[in-house]
Amino acid sequence: MRVSGVNIFSYDNKSANRQRNGYADLGLLRISSATMPEDTFVKTLSFKAGLPSGIPIKTHGQYRYLTKEHDIHCFYCKRLLLYAGTLQDMLDSGVFSGPIKDFVEKVKPYRKVMKKGQGDVFDQIEKYAKKSPQTHLSEIVQFLYQNSIKRLVRTQAKIFKKLMDESASLPPDREQSFRKFMKNQHKRLYEKAYKEDFNPEKFAYKMSKMIPSIPNAELRAYLSRITEPMSDPIFANKDSVIPSELANRISKSKAAKFRTANEFSEYVIYRVQKIGERLDRQDIVRLCEISKRMIEGKNVIIQFSNKDFMHDLVKKELASIKGTPLYYRMVYLANKLPNSSSSMRSFVAKHRYSNSDTIGYKLLEPSIATVEHVKARANGGVDDLTNCVLACKADNNERGSMPQYLYMDKWNKRNPQVFFNDIINIANKEHLISISDIKGMSQTVLDEGHVKVDTSKLK
Ligand SMILES: [Zn+2]
Repeated sequence: MRVSGVNIFSYDNKSANRQRNGYADLGLLRISSATMPEDTFVKTLSFKAGLPSGIPIKTHGQYRYLTKEHDIHCFYCKRLLLYAGTLQDMLDSGVFSGPIKDFVEKVKPYRKVMKKGQGDVFDQIEKYAKKSPQTHLSEIVQFLYQNSIKRLVRTQAKIFKKLMDESASLPPDREQSFRKFMKNQHKRLYEKAYKEDFNPEKFAYKMSKMIPSIPNAELRAYLSRITEPMSDPIFANKDSVIPSELANRISKSKAAKFRTANEFSEYVIYRVQKIGERLDRQDIVRLCEISKRMIEGKNVIIQFSNKDFMHDLVKKELASIKGTPLYYRMVYLANKLPNSSSSMRSFVAKHRYSNSDTIGYKLLEPSIATVEHVKARANGGVDDLTNCVLACKADNNERGSMPQYLYMDKWNKRNPQVFFNDIINIANKEHLISISDIKGMSQTVLDEGHVKVDTSKLK
């Protein structure tokens, strides 16, 4: 396979695309300035010997790098933050793919950074490691899945039932559409086959979730480059003619041959599947096989996915009643569906087809440190440190571009002080952050988050 000439910094060009992506509005695909290539850059070029002492940090890369050597807590959830490079190193050095005995030994120190669902999964793995130390992560997850799927489905079905009850109040035309939607969602829950249209945006989104756990930077970059363009709205119509800029990103040689969205989709799926097979990534291969069947108009069995469900619910089914009390009641109910960060069962169901690398990676990924814009950039927030705090990836994604004071409703208002104390300590001891930046930060947090923090300990 050819991956030569791949630019590992090609990630940087995609934010415009993400903005247009439907998932971005939901805060599901928000790119926090945050991803791997910049880290690679930080590691290899600027910071071989850590941060320079006494010089206040300026860039996002430097800001996140602080979490490598300092204990810093998430601005929102107060959990310890994990440095992204540390996770990448664990993945690339095979910590997740080895026997669980070694996995547990190496990952145990990071148990405290994990979210609830992930932490519960880790505790189970630790138990199994004592009984059968040579097992692999993916085997444990399959075993846990067998034991928990029935109870998970029961919980989900109860929430479905409540949503159906509420839907009786929908306008008649919406009610009919909603019933059809729920019927298909039921089929997903009980793993029954049905017909569904291929959605390139969802394909690109799912790939963006699967790519980071591939332990090879060039492959990650290549797969991102060819799948990203499919999140462009132009792909929504299979007969659209793909503009040359997008076509060239997928393949310069194929750009001369193919024209339509469908042709490019089929080509990308073909390439991705080949790589998935080579890497023995069942999750990727399955996604490609299902996608092909969808394009061919055949029946498919699709796993239930919270994000898919919420996306279709909010963007399609409830779009016309947005903002009404009924809308909020239904979204509130849907939010009660267990997800992988809150429920162990949900995590293992989601990762039933994942390999050990992916499972290990996903146990820690929600905890990595990201730069969080206090005033969202989408709402005109500036990009300097006075508008930036550090938050875990899970919170950063969940908040999206929601005004900060609304997202703060979910949290104890004293949590941000813990983050500020960490930062103030670093400023006092090592002068890595300037006093004026921290003061500016606290002012922005007051304006946007409606939270007052105490910076009087700053020297
Ligand atoms: Zn957090």
